[in-house]
Amino acid sequence: MAAIAFAGVGKAYGATEVIRALDLAIRDQEFMVLVGPSGCGKSTALRMIAGLETVSSGELSIGAKVVNDVAPKDRDVAMVFQSYALYPHMSVRENIAFGLMIRKMDKAEIDKRVIEAARILALEPLLDRKPKALSGGQRQRVALGRAMVRRPSAFLFDEPLSNLDAKLRVGMRAEISKLQRRLETTAVYVTHDQTEAMTMGDRIAVLAPLAEAGKSTLMQVGRPLELYDRPQNLFVARFIGSPHMSVIETTVGEDGVTLSHPDLRAKLASPLKPGAKVHFGVRPEDVRRAGEHGFARAVRFEGRVEIVETLGHEAIFHVQAGPDLILAKSTEARVLPALGDTLAFEINADKVHLFDGVSQERLDTTVVG
Ligand code: ADP
Repeated sequence: MAAIAFAGVGKAYGATEVIRALDLAIRDQEFMVLVGPSGCGKSTALRMIAGLETVSSGELSIGAKVVNDVAPKDRDVAMVFQSYALYPHMSVRENIAFGLMIRKMDKAEIDKRVIEAARILALEPLLDRKPKALSGGQRQRVALGRAMVRRPSAFLFDEPLSNLDAKLRVGMRAEISKLQRRLETTAVYVTHDQTEAMTMGDRIAVLAPLAEAGKSTLMQVGRPLELYDRPQNLFVARFIGSPHMSVIETTVGEDGVTLSHPDLRAKLASPLKPGAKVHFGVRPEDVRRAGEHGFARAVRFEGRVEIVETLGHEAIFHVQAGPDLILAKSTEARVLPALGDTLAFEINADKVHLFDGVSQERLDTTVVG
């Protein structure tokens, strides 16, 4: 068990900067997910913890110890990869035991640990099979078992589920979360999939590629619902949530309190600079057909229904409002509008997210209808 801390960590490959000013304190026994689009440096950050990449600047610690110069084998962390990397000629038992065998651990102790891991992972009946006779999910469990028997102070997961089909992925997500709680071991989990991040993480760190990142690679860290309810910037607002938040560009009017847009008007709770650009964001569940929900304070607009996605228990409408598309959710999924219909919609004013048009940071103010 160990806390892991990045303090002002930067990483560059030659002249190519990849990670900038990363400050992130992962707590002992916490399940921390690193999420972001491809190329934002998630795997690099994880590989730095494992010692497979050097740290270019700043300090990385595991427990109380700075590990910048500590060899991978002395770090007491275990990595689980997307590709599983099982040895094809070895049985499940041998694959799980291999890491302990090369450390010359006592045979009886190895057997004990392998049996225990196999029991927890429901692999006992499969111990004498070769990897080629296993399903994708079973192989993934063998890879987990191999990490578990080392009893590391932290598990490092690099997109471990991306090779599995959708249904198995959902099942394995739950298994990994359950396992981590049971073993009471710190876990750092890398994924590009925000749903995986939302469902698995105690906390989530959202990373951005440097071109979009500004002064730090880390855009926000917090509990899943903190990120969902109060994204600190436009990047996190757009990245977290599926279907995604709709964001439209508005301008503050001469009175300082009217937000204007070709098809929508809203009043600000507190004034902003006249003429300033403001990004107005709203999640699909906070936009309904007029009359369907009855929000206490609503921003009304009319728009043309361009696409209807029917999911059975609900429907998502893609609504054209002026130059923008706004997603709306309807729980009335049986009586649907025709494509091209122009309808009235309401936005829940209490759930609008406003971001500065230049800095893209969250604004303190909100709208009152
Ligand atoms: P992610 O896991 O978020 O997709 P990575 O950590 O794999 O991102 O990579 C981050 C960036 O670093 C990418 O732009 C990638 O091209 C670059 N990169 C990774 N490894 C190297 C390397 N050995 N040399 C140069 N650039 C690299």
